[in-house]
Amino acid sequence: MAEPKENVLMEKITSLCKRRGFIFQSSEIYGGIQGFWDYGPLGAELKRNVKELWWSTMTRMRDDVVGLEATIIMHPAIWRASGHVDTFSDPMCDCLLTKKRFRADQIELQSGNAYHYNGAKDTVSGKEVSEPYAVLLAAGKPPESARKTAAQFYAQRGLQSVELLGERMEKVEGSQRFNPENGSLLTPPVPFNLMFKTYVGPTATEADVAYLRPETAQAIFAQFKNVHETSRQKVPFGVAQMGKAFRNEVTPRNYTFRSREFEQMELEFFIKPDEAVEAVSGAVATPASKGHPGEPQPNWGWQLWHQYWVEERIKFYEGIGLPRATLEEYWQKPEELAHYARACVDILFKFPFGTQELEGIAARSDFDLSQHERCSGKAMGVFDEELRTAFGKLPPEKQTELKDRYYAARLKYLTKMGVPLDKAGAEAQEDADGLAKGQYIPHVIEPSAGVDRLILALLANAYSETTKTDDKGKSETLYVMKFHPRVAPIKVAVLPLLKNKPELATKARAIFESLRGHMMAFHDEAGSIGKRYARQDEAGTPFCVTVDFETFEGIKDGPQAGVKDTVTIRHRDDGKQERIAASELLPWLLARVR
Ligand code: ATP
Repeated sequence: MAEPKENVLMEKITSLCKRRGFIFQSSEIYGGIQGFWDYGPLGAELKRNVKELWWSTMTRMRDDVVGLEATIIMHPAIWRASGHVDTFSDPMCDCLLTKKRFRADQIELQSGNAYHYNGAKDTVSGKEVSEPYAVLLAAGKPPESARKTAAQFYAQRGLQSVELLGERMEKVEGSQRFNPENGSLLTPPVPFNLMFKTYVGPTATEADVAYLRPETAQAIFAQFKNVHETSRQKVPFGVAQMGKAFRNEVTPRNYTFRSREFEQMELEFFIKPDEAVEAVSGAVATPASKGHPGEPQPNWGWQLWHQYWVEERIKFYEGIGLPRATLEEYWQKPEELAHYARACVDILFKFPFGTQELEGIAARSDFDLSQHERCSGKAMGVFDEELRTAFGKLPPEKQTELKDRYYAARLKYLTKMGVPLDKAGAEAQEDADGLAKGQYIPHVIEPSAGVDRLILALLANAYSETTKTDDKGKSETLYVMKFHPRVAPIKVAVLPLLKNKPELATKARAIFESLRGHMMAFHDEAGSIGKRYARQDEAGTPFCVTVDFETFEGIKDGPQAGVKDTVTIRHRDDGKQERIAASELLPWLLARVR
């Protein structure tokens, strides 16, 4: 999809992120390295909060999900089995004039008149270059500028006084074959594998090639048996993992949105095949309506589990401050789905540069575990006593029907993967017989989210600015990062009203010390109180606690007049202030920031 070249809001967000220490360009002192970003002090806290919330929501708060932390470099056979070695690529092309690189499928569609040349001749030396070339011009533009560009192209090939040969014009509609910036022809697209290669061990031969993982998910499949056996979980259950992933993106862009090193938070939720659910429960429940289907039930098949996870994930985003109105669901069309996938929903966020993917939730059938079973030779199936018993009690015609369906699905997978028909038929039959004995390869629902994209969404959603003009006509722009308190990098700032009053400063420090073990707190004495509030607004701190004279002397007026040892809490988003007892501060804050 074409993306606008400039984006004022993104520039403002980027500049605030740098200025306040959310995000820095990696290796900046050496000119940076494209597609790599570092998180500064505030960004690191924000990111940590997001990951903690995901981890606790997905694992600790659930009975049916456990965690995994696997290595980044794994046996290269994993990436052959998963299909990444053969097919994890993007089409790439280069400008024939400037050498600038493009992702071929992301070039905006262009129309106009293409001027083609068969080659060119040097009018002085007589030397000829027979390489064809073309330049696209907007309709109605005279051909001179195409000729000028073409002359530059042939000059780069050693001609000094260029005479263009065989010019002809062609009308072009919706083409991605030309550089949108200068009209020059591009090289034909070639697939470019996105995995970063490295070598394991000192010999660095082709046999030592390994890959930095392009996703965290595969480790979960590779360790499925170990986790299943040690965690005492029964299908349906999930395994969650978060961590670094690496993709050598052709054109990293949109700040951190498309990076070359990033973090993912992925869940593989293993479920029974529908045939097994039907055998045990009599029928597979069908989705009654859109929206959250409620608490998981034993008669859920893949469709309801998929719907459940889409809704759970949206609920998560809402719970950390991304309103539903900022999100969209995109249900992939059948022709867009990978051959093994039953359904895939992308949760999109309305970024300043367009509505784009935040997370994908795919129903991936039993493809992944089946691949690892075939490629490693290690069984990936599970045994389910309840299924075995239930199957035995079914009427023979039902048994045959379920076995036939399971057989057909297994045969489809095996033949698709190139297993010869007779062998595939025999294996699929074995699998169908296995089902009747309580054995199956689990299917999987995969909610796969990117940490960095979520951070960017939270930053974009939080950003707000207001410009105020004073009586003298001097204007000042104030920035407020309206993070949900659960993700805000700093939860509370403790500020003495005046720095040079020892009793205020000592009390503020003591309050800060009492809070910092429970949450990210900040203590700031420098500058006017207004400036300190403004600094915290930019950092997105939801609450500022001020220790002032009334803390010691007692509240001046109102129903609580005379009450001592209170503090003022200032709310970031509306500037409202309230007084509470210092002793109630910790529970008050904890109730709001967790
Ligand atoms: P896209 O089509 O945008 O490249 P994808 O469909 O290839 O994304 P997945 O393979 O489904 O992405 O990865 C799951 C999640 O990982 C994405 O939804 C996204 O949040 C994150 N992600 C993927 N690639 C990148 C990247 N290059 N930079 C940052 N995050 C990424």
